Amino acid sequence: MQDTDVIVIGSGIGGLITATQLAAKGAKVLVLERYLIPGGSAGYFERQGYRFDVGASMIFGFGQNGTTNLLTRALQAVNVSLDVIPDPVQIHYHLPNGLDLKVERVYEKFLQNLSAYFPHQSQGIRRFYDECWKVFHCLNSMDLLSLEEPRYLVRVFFQHPLACLGLVKYLPQNAGDMARRYIQDPQLLKFIDMECYCWSVVPADMTPMINAGMVFSDRHYGGVNYPKGGVGQIAQKLVEGLVKAGCQIQYQARVTKIIIENRRAVGVQLANNQIYRAKRIVSNATRWDTFGKLLSQQQIPVAEKRWQQRYHKSPSFLSLHMGVKAEVLPQATECHHIVLEDWEKMAAPEGTLFVSIPTLLDPDLAPSGYHIIHAFTPHSIDDWQGLSGREYEEKKEEAARRIVDRLEKIFPGLNAGLDYLEVGTPRTHRRFLGREDGTYGPIPRRKLRGLLGMPFNRTSISGLYCVGDSTFPGQGLNAVAFSGFACAHRIAVDLGL
Ligand SMILES: Cc1cc2nc3c(=O)[nH]c(=O)nc-3n(C[C@H](O)[C@H](O)[C@H](O)COP(=O)(O)OP(=O)(O)OC[C@H]3O[C@@H](n4cnc5c(N)ncnc54)[C@H](O)[C@@H]3O)c2cc1C
Repeated sequence: MQDTDVIVIGSGIGGLITATQLAAKGAKVLVLERYLIPGGSAGYFERQGYRFDVGASMIFGFGQNGTTNLLTRALQAVNVSLDVIPDPVQIHYHLPNGLDLKVERVYEKFLQNLSAYFPHQSQGIRRFYDECWKVFHCLNSMDLLSLEEPRYLVRVFFQHPLACLGLVKYLPQNAGDMARRYIQDPQLLKFIDMECYCWSVVPADMTPMINAGMVFSDRHYGGVNYPKGGVGQIAQKLVEGLVKAGCQIQYQARVTKIIIENRRAVGVQLANNQIYRAKRIVSNATRWDTFGKLLSQQQIPVAEKRWQQRYHKSPSFLSLHMGVKAEVLPQATECHHIVLEDWEKMAAPEGTLFVSIPTLLDPDLAPSGYHIIHAFTPHSIDDWQGLSGREYEEKKEEAARRIVDRLEKIFPGLNAGLDYLEVGTPRTHRRFLGREDGTYGPIPRRKLRGLLGMPFNRTSISGLYCVGDSTFPGQGLNAVAFSGFACAHRIAVDLGL
């Protein structure tokens, strides 16, 4: 491409939304993706008639109203759309001490379900979740763009002064402190920990209130919706829109170096030595990959080193992708489940077990009479290093057996009904998602003041921006979409678009 305005390294949802937003404003954008297809952690793969999501499958951001429906908006911006299937229950929890609870899409039903287990705390439950709604209403009343753009901040403040003041109040707070203000029952506080952990991978005390407000309210507002054809469709559609807008994406284009001249990012070099130059460079790789691999040690800004003292890499996952006979699933099984037998093990390897069965919403992802089950649980890459090929395969088999045994309790007959099984380890996540140690993303090393420590899109290197889950506001598709909108907004202002 001649005269490229912006190069985006990586086609995760954060990268693609940056690219499409800029394309919609008339910028010439080139996306360089190391893998064969777009999507990153929101990608897919196909085996024997099954289409598996590699990671994400509980999708927020497809609502029709307000401003937080960022995936709907991102597709619309480049004139593409996607059919989605509403999920009536966000999660079916199977927790210690018989806490068996469904988070219904209807808010009052959810409050009823939870209060039935903790009747003495029903007031506190309502007050805590109502507080989350306050955060959500503030966010959902304004355009979510770059907090690094002063003119936008001034405009939004004059348009929505109360909402802005509300957000300033919540920005340094964590969900755990807020929960303890209203709730005293230790079991219930553990449940709130799990409510946070299952998407932030840290307990409530370390989960920013802004993110909690988004997730705990949007599930009842825009709701959780599954894209028809699988999660991979989101990236496919964004690419379609990008290309329609006259921009380009190249696959198998692994960037190995960000070129810096006169302290400014001016281009990138690929593994095949090809060089591309542009006015602005965006990295959708994790911060560890961006600053640890694409720049030399001497080029790492002090701010990055400081950030790494506050945040570290969360563990990766062990994933089982299964094809199973339909009769394995009891009547009225829900799409998403969380299984934990012992509260003490919530954050331990193989503690919390996450389960998604997207074929309950979109049967076309599996052959007729079969379902997909994706079960995943935290695992560290350290446990998978230094093994011979045979040891690696044996370890995968043993781990898979343990997971299937646990799942037998909610899906009796699962083992006998297995038609297909593929096991992914942290090494798989590292290799196919291009994420250092296969990490899910950054988590605070210790309790921080809400979201104040998360970096925005600009970096200390002029011309270089970051987007995706190692930037504000963190992990999850709708969160990286926010990061993408913000990144594109900041760059558009910088380029005068
Ligand atoms: C198992 C699992 C389950 C999850 N479940 C959910 C869920 O249910 N709901 C939800 O909202 N979120 C979920 N998430 C989180 C969500 O998927 C991620 O937060 C989000 O997809 C991250 O997007 P991203 O844009 O930051 O980057 P990524 O998805 O990491 O994409 C980055 C892209 O950059 C490419 N890349 C990296 N380095 C280079 C390079 N040097 N050159 C070229 N290309 C490069 C990669 O190949 C990749 O395509 C889940 C994640 C996992 C792993």
